[in-house]
Amino acid sequence: MRRITLINGDGIGPEISDAVVKIIEASGLKIDWDIQTAGADVIEKEGTPLPERVLNSIKENKIALKAPVTTPIGKGFRSVNVQLRKALDLYANLRPCKNLPNVKTKFDSVDIVVVRENTEDLYAGIERQVDNDTAESIKVITRKASERICKFAFDYAIKNSRKEVCVVTKANIMKLSDGLFLESYRKIAENYPEIKKREILVDNLCMQLVQNPSQFDVLVLPNLYGDIVSDLCAGLIGGLGVAQGANIGLDYAVFEPVHGSAPDIKGQNKANPTALLLSAIEMLKYIGEFSYADRIEKALFKTLANGIFTADLGGTASTKDFTDAIVQNL
Ligand code: ATP
Repeated sequence: MRRITLINGDGIGPEISDAVVKIIEASGLKIDWDIQTAGADVIEKEGTPLPERVLNSIKENKIALKAPVTTPIGKGFRSVNVQLRKALDLYANLRPCKNLPNVKTKFDSVDIVVVRENTEDLYAGIERQVDNDTAESIKVITRKASERICKFAFDYAIKNSRKEVCVVTKANIMKLSDGLFLESYRKIAENYPEIKKREILVDNLCMQLVQNPSQFDVLVLPNLYGDIVSDLCAGLIGGLGVAQGANIGLDYAVFEPVHGSAPDIKGQNKANPTALLLSAIEMLKYIGEFSYADRIEKALFKTLANGIFTADLGGTASTKDFTDAIVQNL
């Protein structure tokens, strides 16, 4: 039986994790969940929101499904998410954004995959206070990280029968840093004659995304633009409750929704488990369980097509009602 780390998180994390585990179980797929707690709730006992045992579990199992984890603000702890990505070298952040059946949005044919570089750019956190009135942040772009994320995007495109990989930069202004990212894209692109190429500036991309998003296929971006654009794309398909994600490296992969722990609706049986469920479906595909992934996806789509929605999508179903409906459809 496949062993997978499950970080059930805090806030709405445990509720949506329970829902997803129940749905996968109902599909007939047997998974040996290695449940690991992390976040605000473990600090008192273990002195850190990300104990070593969590990292060891992922290193052992190679794959994790992760519900949102809160890092307490202002208590000196580094972000759990950033730490995980660093410690496991999860260099690619993958966010597929596709319209869901019956979920009303401005556009109906959005099917975009955002591939965001996850380790450098302004997120390297190199800042200094020059004087009282001046602060500097350093944007770090390396050839190695740029080439490997572009290669990841093209490989993803081939594996998932996508047609185009578009690189997003501001290389007309940041000629050296974004210029290096663009140069890396061009070099890697030469190895993929079957995939269409496109280059776009990030400001133009944002305008095009809110006017005609269906023209885009796979986007590859440096870290900061990737962060902003992937939230924009999540908005195009119905918001945080349905936005899935994954952080992938050479050795390990952690699948997680885009949203945070939503403390405002914690414990109220209101949270939408769709984003975590879609992340889990992507995880099942990643480990080769295509038929189970497909069955679960169909059951989710049927539930939505039947008009069963949680409150964030304008419905009246509780987390439990929604989960039970998916189980029923399985
Ligand atoms: P973080 O900083 O951890 O990302 P945040 O406060 O910026 O957290 P979220 O925790 O994602 O963002 O919540 C933003 C809003 O979206 C909240 O009002 C929350 O209730 C709502 N929300 C987020 N995820 C879900 C979900 N799965 N189902 C329903 N509502 C959600």
